[in-house]
Amino acid sequence: RAKQSISQNVCFYDGEMDDVARDRARMAKDLWQAIEEGQFKLNYQVQKSIATSETTGYEVLLRWVHPERGNVPPVDFIEVAEECGAILPIGEWVLREACREAATWEPHLKVAVNLSPVQIAHADIGALVDQVLQETKLDPSRLELEITESSIIVDKNRAMAALQAIKALGVSIAIDDFGTGYSSLETLRSFPFDKIKLDRSFMTELNESDEAKAMVRAILALGQGLRIPVLAEGVETSEQLDILRSEGCHEAQGYLLGRPGPTVEKSVGLAA
Ligand code: C2E
Ligand code: MG
Ligand code: MG
Ligand code: MG
Repeated sequence: RAKQSISQNVCFYDGEMDDVARDRARMAKDLWQAIEEGQFKLNYQVQKSIATSETTGYEVLLRWVHPERGNVPPVDFIEVAEECGAILPIGEWVLREACREAATWEPHLKVAVNLSPVQIAHADIGALVDQVLQETKLDPSRLELEITESSIIVDKNRAMAALQAIKALGVSIAIDDFGTGYSSLETLRSFPFDKIKLDRSFMTELNESDEAKAMVRAILALGQGLRIPVLAEGVETSEQLDILRSEGCHEAQGYLLGRPGPTVEKSVGLAA
C-alpha cells in the first residue's frame, strides 16, 4: 500500500504495491524531478465577451512535457501531484509565471489561474498571492483565481478565510466547472464568487436537448439573481454560441473562440 504524506512531500512505496500504485509513485517521483528540471510550461486560452466578442482575458493551463512520457495532460497528473504535495510548488510556479506574463499584456486583459484544493488547504494562499502580485507588479484586479467546489467541501471555514484573504487583495474568484460534482446553491450564495464558469458538459447537448437548454437557462437566471456573471466553457460551435447569446450568457471560452496555445494573440494580447 502506498503511504502518502503532504507534510513530508514524498510518496513512499513498498514491494507489495499493485501496478496502479507503483505507476503513481513513479509519476510522483517524476513530478518532483520535473519541478527541478523545469519541464512545465503554460498555455493560454482566450475568454471573450459574447455581446462584443472582445477578448476579456486568458485562462492559464498547465502543460507537462516529460522527456520520455511526452506531453502529459493535466487530467493524468494533477491528482497525483495533489496526493504527493508536488502541486504546492507547481501551483506556486504557475501563479508566478502567469502573473509575470500577464503583466506584459494590455492592461485591460485579465489572467485566470486554476487553484487546487490542496493549495487552499495547505498553503497560506492569501500571503502567496500577495507576494506574487508585489513581485510581478500585476494589478490585483487583473488576476482571477478559479476554484472548484471540491476546494470548499473539505473545510468550509478554512476555504472561506482563504477566499476572503484573496478578495481583500482585490483579486477575483471564479467557481470552475459549475453544475457538476457537488454543486450546491448554498455554496453559491455564501461564498464571494465573482464569476460562474458553466461546465463544458452542458455544451455537448446544448443544441440537441431541451433539458440541457433548460439547465443552462436556470444557471444563467441564478447568476443574474445573484448578480454574478456567467462564462460558458467548452464552446465549440457557433450554434452553441448563438444559444448562449440569446439566453444572456456573458462570456465564452472554447475551441470556437480559440484553442489553448503557448502565447496570447499578438494583436490583442501584447503591450507595445
Ligand atoms: P479547467 O480549468 O476546467 O480548464 C478547461 C479545460 O477544458 C482545459 O483542459 C481546456 O484545454 C479544455 N477546453 C477548453 N476549450 C475546450 C473545448 O472547446 N472543448 C473541449 N473538449 N475542451 C476544451 P486542460 O488544459 O486539459 O485542463 C484540464 C483541467 O486540469 C482544468 O480544467 C483544470 O481543472 C486542471 N488544470 C489545468 N491547469 C491547471 C493548473 O495550473 N493548476 C491546477 N490546479 N489545475 C489545472
Ligand atoms: Mg479552469
Ligand atoms: Mg472548467
Ligand atoms: Mg474542468
